[in-house]
Amino acid sequence: VNVDTSVVAEALASALGPERVSVEPRDLAAASRDESDLPPVAPACVCRPASAADVAAVVRVAFDNRVPVTARGGGSSLEGSSIPAPGAIVVDFAAMDRVIEVSTEDRLAVVQPGVVFDRLNASLRPTGLFFPPSPGGSGDVATIGGMVSTDASGLYALRYGGTRRWVLGLEVVTGRGEVLRLGGRVPKSSSGYGLRDLVVGSEGTLALVTEVTLGIAPVPAASARVALAFDDLAGACETAAEAAAFVPELAAVELVDRDTLDALRRLPGFGDVPACHALFAETHGRPGECEAGLDAVRAVARERGGREVAAGADPWDLRHRVTRTVRESAGTAGVARTDCAVPLTRLAAFVAEVSSAAAGRRTHVFGHVGLGIVHCLMPLGGPAAWTREDACAMKARLAALAVAMGGVVSGEHGIGLAMRGALRDAGPAQVELMRAVKAAFDPAGILNPDKILGQR
Ligand SMILES: Cc1cc2nc3c(=O)[nH]c(=O)nc-3n(C[C@H](O)[C@H](O)[C@H](O)COP(=O)(O)OP(=O)(O)OC[C@H]3O[C@@H](n4cnc5c(N)ncnc54)[C@H](O)[C@@H]3O)c2cc1C
Repeated sequence: VNVDTSVVAEALASALGPERVSVEPRDLAAASRDESDLPPVAPACVCRPASAADVAAVVRVAFDNRVPVTARGGGSSLEGSSIPAPGAIVVDFAAMDRVIEVSTEDRLAVVQPGVVFDRLNASLRPTGLFFPPSPGGSGDVATIGGMVSTDASGLYALRYGGTRRWVLGLEVVTGRGEVLRLGGRVPKSSSGYGLRDLVVGSEGTLALVTEVTLGIAPVPAASARVALAFDDLAGACETAAEAAAFVPELAAVELVDRDTLDALRRLPGFGDVPACHALFAETHGRPGECEAGLDAVRAVARERGGREVAAGADPWDLRHRVTRTVRESAGTAGVARTDCAVPLTRLAAFVAEVSSAAAGRRTHVFGHVGLGIVHCLMPLGGPAAWTREDACAMKARLAALAVAMGGVVSGEHGIGLAMRGALRDAGPAQVELMRAVKAAFDPAGILNPDKILGQR
């Protein structure tokens, strides 16, 4: 980008007001990274719009000057999606954090994109309704705009689906600076091309989301949980796959492997976490149904060598701490990761392949296995660490294996910077079609231009 940054910053300051535009080194540094361990990239400036009109004004300045724009919610992306494009204007949605409307009659909530997931559900609690697709351990920072833009999913996606299923309508600003409404306030539409669904999961490359209309669901009447221990990883995977397929009350089934539990055991208050591969399962429904569902899970587990245990801590608290704890164990070197998804019938084979390809290097396997999503964290520091080169080769190898099994390269974290090669290898013609879609939304190619597709 060959543009005078001060000219752009001045144009933005006159459009939004100077208090909404920063070139302070501290603000640039804070916006330069996400939760991946990829190198930071400092943006040219950071804007904090207050409205869709502000966002459209920013995009028009960027369009006229051909400057890239990277949207930023909580910055909790794990694959580099929210690391700014070089020389970018960062649009930080922190100031657009209002819950605009909750309609219990239409079962929907209208929110600005900067609303944080946990805060949305806390504000819905009095209504007895909730927004189900929890983003796991990042619920305290992930915003609805970020979740829409990565199609985030988490613990309860097995029963309720990912974010896409709940997005009824969007207000967006395209790469030309037009404000458009996509979808509406209804759960079903047969009204031409699914433009709303193209924006969901597009990581800020097609449009900036300025308002979201979300479906919300009744909080289940009851829920019940069980923790199951296995000596054998295959037994845990087979149990998860069979339970997910045949126990309709199951809302979540999470795998945490032995190496990961070993890392968690060092946390204060987690000393009595058992030494095993663990599955944590939760059922939702009426009280009797929940227990019946758990009994069915227990029965499958027994057949596969599993036993019920006290988790030694709240299983979901334990599960939520996995990503951050393993990352800390790698010191400043950080971690590399995969989040492939495979069909349930291939889950055990996929996980076995992860273990054999790890060849003694410390590898933490966990994930929303009821959906076939397998996270594999490869520490780049600490004992038995991976080299970055080997970890990148492993990412490519597992992504190719997942696709060969009928799965996908990313089940929920997105493509960002780190999975672009894997996406291209999985379908070069599909990536070219995505490029054509991007050109229609963003003709000057300014919206988060280095993400998902990369250079031709
Ligand atoms: C500890 C931990 C656990 C996690 N667990 C999960 C999990 O279980 N499931 C899961 O799905 N993810 C998980 N994640 C990843 C991450 O939290 C999700 O991808 C989340 O949806 C990102 O939200 P965010 O607000 O932080 O977005 P950001 O990181 O700020 O942005 C993500 C992408 O969305 C774009 N974007 C943000 N806001 C907008 C907007 N308003 N308009 C257009 N584009 C926008 C950004 O440009 C970027 O491409 C985890 C992360 C951490 C750190």
